[in-house]
Formats: sequence, structure tokens, C-alpha cells
Amino acid sequence: MPWKDIEKVRRYNREYMRRVRKEHPIRMRRKNRERLRKFRKEHPEWVKKMNERFAGQQKAWKQKNASKLRTYYRNYERRSGRKANLTNEVRKLLGGKCECCGEREPEFLTVDHIKSDRAKIVKRGIKHGNWHYYTEIKRAFESKDMKKVASIKKKYRLACYNCNLSRRVNGKCPHERAKEFKALK
Ligand SMILES: [Zn+2]
Ligand SMILES: [Zn+2]
Repeated sequence: MPWKDIEKVRRYNREYMRRVRKEHPIRMRRKNRERLRKFRKEHPEWVKKMNERFAGQQKAWKQKNASKLRTYYRNYERRSGRKANLTNEVRKLLGGKCECCGEREPEFLTVDHIKSDRAKIVKRGIKHGNWHYYTEIKRAFESKDMKKVASIKKKYRLACYNCNLSRRVNGKCPHERAKEFKALK
């Protein structure tokens, strides 16, 4: 490294920091956040001024785009309503109760990925999100093709939040462990 050439050193430092930022985004984010917090503490006047300015800007934007906002909220309600309907349908199609403990309260029921491969699916970049596989399930049942239904049933089942989450966290639900323990005796 030719330390005599200040420009080259600067360029090197710049490159180095760029690399660090790219390779350690979380660390950099934390550092920036800390720096910002410190700055805010030291300059309360500035924070106040900026907050007022942002609030004013936001208000102006909302007034200017009132009709747009109205459509957005209306559509949002419609969308969430449709989603609730779909969720209820899927719960009914998959049997209406937790396949592990038999819980029947619809609000407790979720769709469980039997192989716990949701994370993998997301990682592979295949379309994901509840909406996607709920429609997949619904379509399979609607087609009345038993093969499709069977493959869906291999992939998904209904489980309550308790059973679903404990499977996700511990790999096995306490109910499953209890069953295995009984079988051993
Ligand atoms: Zn359960
Ligand atoms: Zn269970």
C-alpha cells in the first residue's frame, strides 16, 4: 500500500468501508442507529423542528391525495374481508379441527406445513404467503381430483397455534411426544 499517495489511501478506505457495509449490513445498521440516537439526544431542537416539518408534509400529502387514500382503504377492507373468507373456507376443507389435539375453535386453527418446509419454500424464492397456498388448497379441493387432494393433504394439515408453533420451535408438539412415550411403554 503506497501510503505516500493520499488519494490512493482514501480510495482504498472508501472501498474497504463499502465492502464492510455490504458484508455486515446488520452491524452497520446497528451502528448507524446508535449514531442517530446519540445525535438526537444532543440536538433536541433539531429533532423538534424536523418532526414538525415531517408532520406538516404528511398532512399536506394526505390532503392532496385524499381520493387515492380513500380507494386504498376501501380496497384494503375488501381485501382483508376476502382473505378472512378464504381462510374460513380452507379451515372447513381441511377438516375443521386441529389434527394433533382436536381443537375446534376456528380462530385457533392454522394451516400447518407438515414437513415444516415453509422457510425452504420462501428461501427458494417460490411464491409464498398465506394467500398463495390457501388458494392452492382451495383449487385442489374444487377440482375434485383425488390425486391432487391427496398430495395437498400430504403437504398441509390443520393445526392449532399451540401445536403448530411448538412443532416449529421444538420440532415436535408435546402431544406427539406424549404419544411416543405411551407407545414405548
Ligand atoms: Zn392442537
Ligand atoms: Zn399437539
